[in-house]
Amino acid sequence: MFDSISDKFSTVVRTLAGKSKITEKNIQDAVEEIKVALLDADVNLRVVRRFVNGTMEEAMGEKVLKAVDPGQQFVKIVYDRMVALLGDEEHQKLLLKGPDTTSVILMMGLQGSGKTTTASKLAARLKKEGRRPMLVAADLVRPAAILQLKVLGDAIGVPVFSIDGEKNPVKVAKAALALAKKDQRDVLIVDTSGRMHLDETLMDEIKRVSEALKPDETLFVADSMTGQNAVTIAQEFEQKVGITGVVLSKFDSDTRGGAALSLRSVVGKPIKFIGTGEKTEDLEPFHPQRIASRILGMGDVVSLVEKAQETINEQDALKMQEKMAKNTFDLQDYLDQLNRMDKMGSVDQILEMIPGAKGQISEDDIDKKEIKREKAIICSMTYAERTNYRIMGPTRRKRVAAGSGTNVSDVNRMLKKFEKMRLTMKKFAKNKKYQAAMLKQMGM
Ligand code: GDP
Repeated sequence: MFDSISDKFSTVVRTLAGKSKITEKNIQDAVEEIKVALLDADVNLRVVRRFVNGTMEEAMGEKVLKAVDPGQQFVKIVYDRMVALLGDEEHQKLLLKGPDTTSVILMMGLQGSGKTTTASKLAARLKKEGRRPMLVAADLVRPAAILQLKVLGDAIGVPVFSIDGEKNPVKVAKAALALAKKDQRDVLIVDTSGRMHLDETLMDEIKRVSEALKPDETLFVADSMTGQNAVTIAQEFEQKVGITGVVLSKFDSDTRGGAALSLRSVVGKPIKFIGTGEKTEDLEPFHPQRIASRILGMGDVVSLVEKAQETINEQDALKMQEKMAKNTFDLQDYLDQLNRMDKMGSVDQILEMIPGAKGQISEDDIDKKEIKREKAIICSMTYAERTNYRIMGPTRRKRVAAGSGTNVSDVNRMLKKFEKMRLTMKKFAKNKKYQAAMLKQMGM
């Protein structure tokens, strides 16, 4: 997501940010490049025009041209406008009532948009937050939808309500709400029918369900791969039924980002969540500031730290620090680290969050095959070898190469790299000055 637009914005930012003096021509050129980048990303034309004109007007003022750091000032204007385009942090939270009452979330969207998957992701998320959700299968059009929701609900331990053979979604919805109240379920998530295309029958049906349930949240699930089409359909749902927020699914796909950048301005409703994969945990709150930072190639340290915190707990981190200081970091620790890296997501996703990495390092620079190879090599070692790499003589190296399907030269290379890494760690742990320099280099 946002790859191409982010590349272009990063270039503009890099060109202007360091300049101590900029001219009107510099600004005009930069704004022109921004315009092209937005149009290429399939952002709504009216939105582009407003963004570009606003930026130009603000940047041409004395605040930028006469500033001590004009480049930075310009970048700030673009950043602020980008955040405004994406929404504001305050409206991102779900509007749910307290745990003593049953809140209702109505899910809507076209068939295939990811509605059913998102309903279960949301249920899993709310359950993790301590809520007692219940799912309702009110998608009575797509034959497999009820079963799909039941399977998903089972996997996350959330009950799924359905009525066999019932064709009226209003009846299903009402019965579900009554049961949820009786069972003290505090959130009811209703999966409604989708169609391949918008039609009156679908709108009428959803409207009736909505009137019967009076939902606290009506979330429109938009497939980000459909670009401007997602925006048009969201607008239609907003006008005919009314929505309170959008979930942008398939954010992990290779789309240009036009939907994300246009939805808020055109439909006037916030994007509350993004779907970042097919698994249940792949649903993230949408943070305009963090996304804007990523688009501008300024990284997203907050998300990076959060992701790292999810995979490494404080105890692990302390243990690691101690091992570094005592120089007892062994191959087993290295293997654990490689596995953790896998859990954090794709290298591309991680690189996007590191300030300054965008455009400087690419996924290709990081050899994923090499990581896989290294993991295979360590897995073929005995415990004694993993904890003391020094015993790795020629015979052992040969055995490990055969066991891991690699060559002795691969094993040699991995061991050499590991040795070098240990040396760097030792230096790092001992030398405060070196630590400061490293952190600075990383932009922290
Ligand atoms: P529905 O017809 O709107 O209920 O759509 P589904 O929930 O059945 O989703 C359609 C397809 O999109 C399924 O194959 C899902 O696994 C996939 N999908 C849903 N959300 C995401 C997402 O955020 N990322 C990716 N990569 N796939 C998704």
